Amino acid sequence: MERTFVMVKPDGVQRGFVGDIIKRFEQKGLKIVGLKMLQISQELASKHYGEHQGKPFFEGLIKYITSSPVVAMVLEGKDCISLARGMMGATDPKKAAPGTIRETFGIDIGRNVIHGSDSAASAAREISLFFDDQELMCYELSLASWVYE
Ligand code: GDP
Ligand code: MG
Repeated sequence: MERTFVMVKPDGVQRGFVGDIIKRFEQKGLKIVGLKMLQISQELASKHYGEHQGKPFFEGLIKYITSSPVVAMVLEGKDCISLARGMMGATDPKKAAPGTIRETFGIDIGRNVIHGSDSAASAAREISLFFDDQELMCYELSLASWVYE
C-alpha cells in the first residue's frame, strides 16, 4: 500500500468542490488517513513548491496557494500516487483527459483546483510538510476485500 498527498486548492474550496473531490477518492476505494483545512503560510508554500522557484509563474503560484484556505489530505491505497494523479488529470485543465477532476472543474492552468504528489519521494516529502505523524490514522477499511482482490 502507498500513501499520497492530495490538496484541494483555494479555488476548489471557494468554488465548493471539497465534497465532490473527496467523494471521488472515497468512491474509488482509497482510504483517507489524514484530513485537515489550513491556510498555507508563505514559508510552507515556498517549501511545498520549492522545485518551481525561479519559474515565471512562481510568484503567482505562491500568491494563489496562500490566498485562502485549502483542504489537505493523505490517501492510502494500492498504487495510489499514480492513481490519484490520473484521477486529477494533466496540470493544464485544457489538456486534462475527459472526466478527470481538472478537466471537469477547471479552465486555467493557474487555477487547476487540486494538487497531488507526483512520485513516492514527493509524497513522503509533502506528507511530512503538512502532517505530523499523530495526525495520520492507521485503521482497516472493512470494505477492503471488496475493493482489492
Ligand atoms: P502539477 O504537479 O500537475 O500540479 O504541476 P507542476 O508541479 O508542474 O506545477 C505546480 C502548479 O503550478 C500547477 O498545479 C499549477 O497550479 C501551477 N503551474 C504550473 N505551470 C504553470 C504555468 O505555466 N502557468 C501558471 N500560471 N501556473 C502554472
Ligand atoms: Mg507537481
